[in-house]
Amino acid sequence: MENIVVTGIKGLPLIKAGDNITAMICERATIEHGDILCIASTIYSKSKGHTKALAEITPSDRAVRLGRLNKEDPRFVQAVLDASKDILMEYPFILSELPFGHIGVRAGVDQSNIDDGMVIFLPPDPMHAAAQIREEIRQRTGKKTGVIITDTCGRSFRRGQTGHAIGWSGFTAIRDFRGDVDLFGHELKITEEAVVDEIAGFANFVMGESNNGVPAVLFHNCPAWKGHDEIYFSKEEDITRKLLIEHNPK
Ligand code: GDP
Ligand code: MN
Ligand code: MN
Repeated sequence: MENIVVTGIKGLPLIKAGDNITAMICERATIEHGDILCIASTIYSKSKGHTKALAEITPSDRAVRLGRLNKEDPRFVQAVLDASKDILMEYPFILSELPFGHIGVRAGVDQSNIDDGMVIFLPPDPMHAAAQIREEIRQRTGKKTGVIITDTCGRSFRRGQTGHAIGWSGFTAIRDFRGDVDLFGHELKITEEAVVDEIAGFANFVMGESNNGVPAVLFHNCPAWKGHDEIYFSKEEDITRKLLIEHNPK
């Protein structure tokens, strides 16, 4: 197998609403068949105007209460509530389920890498966003690629945030090893690898979090895999979610 080559796309400007980020990336990258392009959700959202000025937000009673509880601007809390389908935990931080299935701290609403007083929402339909960018790349370059929309997320049990895939297109989220045999001939019964998150994690490492200015990362020579897209547990399967809701009655 050839080595995987990972390239951060440099030289992109600060992204504004209306920018065509696919065109801007294609101008700065050499994209080949089978490459995987990771794009930070933050620039996708800025380009599509999924942002809001805090000054335009009127906090509800709940947002005022949670703002006091968590020592946060109630207008920011209102943005988080607006982006959430369900609140799984209110304190010591808001943990939200988003309409597209992702569960994340403060609904993934960011106040970094944007002007003061503005918030950035996660893309409302990141699967569609990834599919659309993939198609635009195909039209511009003639190359069939994979696309992952990433966000930096916290996780349970371990300190530190990592990159997660919130949208993807061109392959399955999961590489399914069930039915394969290991080096000793044992059949694998439960191993499903969340490949999209592993790639998003490394992309996040190349992007950095602050002023690196690298919101897109290209992976060349990744091997193909097969599996399925059911990355989110159903409500019935999700033990952590059940326990959280039991311990955080509304
Ligand atoms: P998130 O993980 O999607 O929330 O995005 P981050 O705010 O962590 O940014 C990821 C990377 O993209 C970092 O290297 C940022 O410096 C960079 N970045 C964010 N916004 C822009 C932008 O508008 N233009 C450029 N060139 N880089 C950006
Ligand atoms: Mn983010
Ligand atoms: Mn980040």
